[in-house]
Amino acid sequence: MKKRTRVTHLPGVSLPPDNRPLVAPIYQSVKFTFDDVAETQKYFAKKRDGFYYSRVSNPTLQQLEQALAGLQDRDACLLTASGIAAISDTLLALLKAGDHVVYFAESYPPTRAFIRRTLGRFGVTATMLSVTDYATLEQTLAGTPTRLVVFECPTNPVLNVADLERITAIARRHGALTLLDNTLAGPHNHGQYDVDLYAHSLTKFVSGHGDVMGGAVIGRGELIDSMRDDFTHLGPTLDPHAAYLLLRGLKTYFVRWDCQCRNALRIAEFLVTHPAVARVRYPGLPSDPGHALAQRQMDSFGTMVTFDLAAGVEAGTRFSEALKLFALTSSLGSTESLVVAPAMLQPRGFTPEQLAWSDIGPGTVRLSVGIEDPDDLVDDLREALALL
Ligand SMILES: *Cc1c(COP(=O)(O)O)cnc(C)c1O
Repeated sequence: MKKRTRVTHLPGVSLPPDNRPLVAPIYQSVKFTFDDVAETQKYFAKKRDGFYYSRVSNPTLQQLEQALAGLQDRDACLLTASGIAAISDTLLALLKAGDHVVYFAESYPPTRAFIRRTLGRFGVTATMLSVTDYATLEQTLAGTPTRLVVFECPTNPVLNVADLERITAIARRHGALTLLDNTLAGPHNHGQYDVDLYAHSLTKFVSGHGDVMGGAVIGRGELIDSMRDDFTHLGPTLDPHAAYLLLRGLKTYFVRWDCQCRNALRIAEFLVTHPAVARVRYPGLPSDPGHALAQRQMDSFGTMVTFDLAAGVEAGTRFSEALKLFALTSSLGSTESLVVAPAMLQPRGFTPEQLAWSDIGPGTVRLSVGIEDPDDLVDDLREALALL
């Protein structure tokens, strides 16, 4: 063969069966082959295992799917290129024109926009409630046949803790499925509840390093299988290299989580004592309205701390800009600490009633706590607060 041909048909390398890499390789290949047409057709007929096209499945992705499903105490998982793709694909896979969805003011703004605007265009109706108002949830589901209840716990950004047992029982009673965006709790929490589907932004705690995006939806095999073709046809597939980075992040997941939760508690305990701070939202504080529930539902209280500056929105801007260790940006779950200023958090398009449900005030600041030394983080906060 000529060199031009040889470089496009490189020699394969195979390992002896008793010789394995300790870290799984990245299967950075779109296509996989079988020896002949008959075996290829057997694969299509689901009569043999294997891989054929990476938008459908890929060994590196399959390893991550199995790891995440196990962490969440379920048996199946579908991966996507971002967290919001996991949510939007799941909604598109489960809903049709005429279906009704219940969602909540205390949730990730793009999720709300997708339900209201995008799904609204396809004839899906939706009712927005407050996630801790269980009586109105019960009434709404009793009055309107509902396909799906979409919620978060703890909620972003104010860290309200929803009662998972109550919400799932109400939904079950009225024949609705539940989709829990479990991003802030992490995939090791909440598996013991009767939740049908868990969505995660892997961009956050699984990556952990702020350098890769990904999403996952996790549930029982039969429900996940019913959505598999829709996900393949919608197409926001996770790249194998991103899956590899997420698998690498997963190895230090608990080390980071434990450290970040410890640092967050330390910061919350500092903030409650500070005169410039009107209110601290951290479920780990015994004074927090979600404390008892979070203690029952989670292994720990999370890595986010939200608080209200008494002085309001402009003080919030000055404070956030004065911080040196907390980067002024969105997202969460990274090794470095991050801050979102009140001006960046204000919801748009809410009625006064919905604004009250969102619990976001003019001085609300959201911190994502990293793995730095907690003494340095507290000093940074103290110095920025002293400028107000
Ligand atoms: C970040 C986030 C998402 C979206 O995830 P991306 O990976 O950014 O697409 C969804 N839900 C919550 C609660 C999030 O924090």
